[in-house]
Amino acid sequence: LAYALAFSLRTFQGPVVNHLEVAVPTPLARTFTYLADSPVPPGMRVLVPFGRRRVVGVALGPAQAELEAGTQLKKIEKILDDTPSYSETVLAIARWISTYYMHPLGEVLRTMLPASSEKVAKDLLALTPEGEQARSAASTSEGQFLKLLFGKKKTEMSYGAALGKSKRLAGEATIGSDAFTVRQLVKSGLVVKRRGSTMRAREMQTEEVERAPEPLSPAQRGVAPELRPAQRQAVDRICQALRPTRDGSPAAESKVFLLHGVTGSGKTEVYIQLIEEVLKESGHQALLLVPEISLTPQMTQVFERRFPGIVAVVHSAMTDIARWQELQRIRAGTARILIGPRSAVFGPFGKLALILVDEEHDGSYKQSTGLTYNGRDVAVLRGKLEKAAVVLGSATPSMESYQNALAGRYELLEMPERVTGRPLPEINIIPCEKKRGLGTVVKAHSARPHADDVQADERDDIPIDPKILEALEQNRLAGRQAIVLVNRRGYAYYLFSLQERQAVPCPNCSISLTLHARSTVLRCHYCDYKTTVERIVAERPGDTLIAVGYGSQKAEDCLAAKLPKARITRLDSDIVVDREVLPKVLEKFRRGDIDILVGTQILAKGHDFPNVTLIVILEVDQLLNLPDFRAGERTFQLIVQAAGRAGRADLPGKVLIQTVRAENPLVLAALEQDYKGFAASELKFRRAHEYPPFTRMIAIEINGPHKPRLETLCTQMERWQDELAVKQPNLAAKVRILGPSVPPIETIRGRHRRTVIFSSGDLQALRTVSQAFVTAFGKLPPKVRLRIDVDPQSL
Ligand code: ADP
Ligand code: ZN
Repeated sequence: LAYALAFSLRTFQGPVVNHLEVAVPTPLARTFTYLADSPVPPGMRVLVPFGRRRVVGVALGPAQAELEAGTQLKKIEKILDDTPSYSETVLAIARWISTYYMHPLGEVLRTMLPASSEKVAKDLLALTPEGEQARSAASTSEGQFLKLLFGKKKTEMSYGAALGKSKRLAGEATIGSDAFTVRQLVKSGLVVKRRGSTMRAREMQTEEVERAPEPLSPAQRGVAPELRPAQRQAVDRICQALRPTRDGSPAAESKVFLLHGVTGSGKTEVYIQLIEEVLKESGHQALLLVPEISLTPQMTQVFERRFPGIVAVVHSAMTDIARWQELQRIRAGTARILIGPRSAVFGPFGKLALILVDEEHDGSYKQSTGLTYNGRDVAVLRGKLEKAAVVLGSATPSMESYQNALAGRYELLEMPERVTGRPLPEINIIPCEKKRGLGTVVKAHSARPHADDVQADERDDIPIDPKILEALEQNRLAGRQAIVLVNRRGYAYYLFSLQERQAVPCPNCSISLTLHARSTVLRCHYCDYKTTVERIVAERPGDTLIAVGYGSQKAEDCLAAKLPKARITRLDSDIVVDREVLPKVLEKFRRGDIDILVGTQILAKGHDFPNVTLIVILEVDQLLNLPDFRAGERTFQLIVQAAGRAGRADLPGKVLIQTVRAENPLVLAALEQDYKGFAASELKFRRAHEYPPFTRMIAIEINGPHKPRLETLCTQMERWQDELAVKQPNLAAKVRILGPSVPPIETIRGRHRRTVIFSSGDLQALRTVSQAFVTAFGKLPPKVRLRIDVDPQSL
């Protein structure tokens, strides 16, 4: 880290006053020089001509690079900010990220802010008189009506009135991206486009800043329980690091704590009391990072109740405007606490004193496309730069963080007991027979099938052990609730063709299609290709097609058939697509209107339902089989986190795991819920095989539509490695290079892929070699793309 930081902080010498260095969002790994009438402070957004376009760049300061003779500099067109959008610290973070994650600075800066005012300003829409007529006929609000017109899934949009009391914007909506729909709508005559200006977006910001926080009334703040000894200890210890030094200046340096508290040990209450400490210092702010916030609305409610009026919340389901506004409250200091997913780590804080990362092991902190940063790691870096205390909390810390704690880089704080004093739920294994025939025949020997036939044949069910059904029924009769976890979404896993002896594949990807909607629809989970079973059957006369395996949809159906009295609801990412459904279902579950919630892993995360006493995990086998060195860690986390949802209040909890690999050591380790024991053996394995956290990895994916071209390139890459070994044997010896190899899923969306994985315990050597590689192959053949993933979370 220190190395990369030093690497990115460049020294400025001999600046030319009117030459401005600007970061422009472009894949080119460089910055650009523009002319400015007067010096522009770093962090201000500027409108600049770039090629044939005008783009929003970020001023970095006076340019120091020597200009080539005869270079014609262009002038910046407009300064878009009154005060810098990016603080000095945020700029420093951006530079570090740009170097560490090997991503162009301009793109990094763009990723850091929500697609802000410029985009927002471009597409303001208003209803025409005809549109207004149609709206009143439909008797809906303007916002609802526009939503209706757009189809809410397709477009990121927000309604002007939601901006608060801003009368000026009433009757307008902003559209994020879907230019096609906008055009269609304008054609229909129902809406007109109003070209907004960047000025307008700026006015909106200033208006928002004036929104005053509500006064804190102690009665409204919720009652703070008396802390348990372990909580008290953690709070006291971290407060020491938070407390400003005698002279009132902030802590001299940042400290990182790893808060390892078992599920139900009351980590949230620790966070709350730490934030209270932060609020005692005027102007100090706190950041709480949470995984996929839209999944845990309950968490934000707790904070909003305890800190009314001063909590800003951002999440991925929000529109750009709404997100921008929340961040403005942080920038203005009217909000003191920001809660959000990974991107919140870039928030515009005035004085950030505390960063909390809840469920720090969670995979959603890592962005997998574009800028592949890990929010948790950036949080640690930001803490360092801001001299803020950082707390990473988890019941199942990542191996990376745990190793950092063992090595003394982080301070380990442990909360080994639940606040209720109850033991962790008991976990039982229900062994399952290996195979039970092939699956369900969807349709045989019919040239003209009908959807009804397909369903009629769907009489098979999934293997759920009678002991599990019995436990679910008893639990319901006792008035308690249960969660059933299934590993994948969809109805059945895939459709197997007996004639071709393979699963029906996606035409664009080298993966089989998944059955949905009671085996009537086939979908690709990678490119979202859809087709019907009816069509597939028609295309294959004489073939026999068999639905193999099961997903959450079928599990729901089967449980409903076998437990007719139970009220069963399903929750998985297919359902969560509709943003309004999730909070509704969770609320219903909380109220006790649902007996059994069936779903995928999203159910295993963080929820606190006091009446849940039984957790069933229907299959961990698929997870264990992943060709990834983290498979063990993930399985352990899933089981322990899922178990953590049971028996949280004063009722004992129970977990049943059905598996064909009952004797697997990982499953057995998870049974004990002995994190330390698991971590010790897992770290031993990682060390022996030179895997992270003992090494760092950089994965580079090369993809393109043309296979021979890709293969030629791979041959060149192999030759490059041979040359490196000859030319720089010392360097080459320090870095292990795997590949180019064919990844488990070779083709996605018609693009063939190859991966090269660099790994080394020597970060500097790793960076030098991978950077040399990227430079050597900087000029790629047409349509070939290179994707860099630093510290990849899955291989
Ligand atoms: P974790 O995040 O560690 O799994 P939570 O923070 O969700 O656990 O706490 C579990 C439950 O215990 C919550 O309902 C919380 O309100 C409650 N709780 C936390 N601390 C205390 C305490 N000191 N006394 C009583 N109840 C507490
Ligand atoms: Zn596909």
